[in-house]
Amino acid sequence: MKKINIAIDGYSSCGKSTLAKGLAKALGYTYIDSGAMYRAVALYALRNGWMNETNIDEEALKKHLHEIHISFEPNSQGGQDIYLNGENIEKEIRSLEVANAASRVSTLKFVREELVRRQQQMGKDKGVVMDGRDIGTVVFPDAELKIFLTASPEIRAQRRFDEMKSKGENPSYDEVLSNVRERDYRDTNRAESPLRKADDAIELDNSNLSIEGQLRWAIDMFNKITKGNE
Ligand code: C5P
Repeated sequence: MKKINIAIDGYSSCGKSTLAKGLAKALGYTYIDSGAMYRAVALYALRNGWMNETNIDEEALKKHLHEIHISFEPNSQGGQDIYLNGENIEKEIRSLEVANAASRVSTLKFVREELVRRQQQMGKDKGVVMDGRDIGTVVFPDAELKIFLTASPEIRAQRRFDEMKSKGENPSYDEVLSNVRERDYRDTNRAESPLRKADDAIELDNSNLSIEGQLRWAIDMFNKITKGNE
């Protein structure tokens, strides 16, 4: 069967990566976490002192952007980990500090242009499930299946809170909720590729849906779209 590209967009912590990973596994497609790429750039900028709580040294980041090699390699759990210049940074990029920094570097036009170029390259042979904020609108405007996920901020904060706790972290729920709100605001109000539903995306509010229910729904959508495409 001819492969397609699948774009999954939505607000932070609404289960995009869980759905994207499940779908990629079920279809034998490659999953790409575009948010992890923004997080990798942010981590590099933080480590080099090019950004702090208030400022970003855009000149320095722009000058060194080409040094940031990002790759995805299979891990022992059957998923993929992200590598920054050969170092596994999968765990380090999941902190609230890096999440916030990623949300800030992702507002920079030159960062977006470079990462979009790399993402398009990764999807050129199709068979990719990519999740993010601008996948259906900018990265793969021709993706055959586009899903736009939504859920309330409180539900998303609770999910992120539970996930962090299960990893042995000790966040405060209020801090996680305000982080979710802050990132929603930045994602929808930035000048460069703000988060919005592509006109041809199918919206799914998963506030009250199980992971299995969402996956069944997405596979149904995939089957409908690819029928007659063989
Ligand atoms: O999805 P995740 O929370 O890991 O993304 C980290 C940050 O990167 C988000 O806050 C968002 O602002 C940004 N991002 C983006 N475009 C994407 C993916 C993520 O702007 N395609």
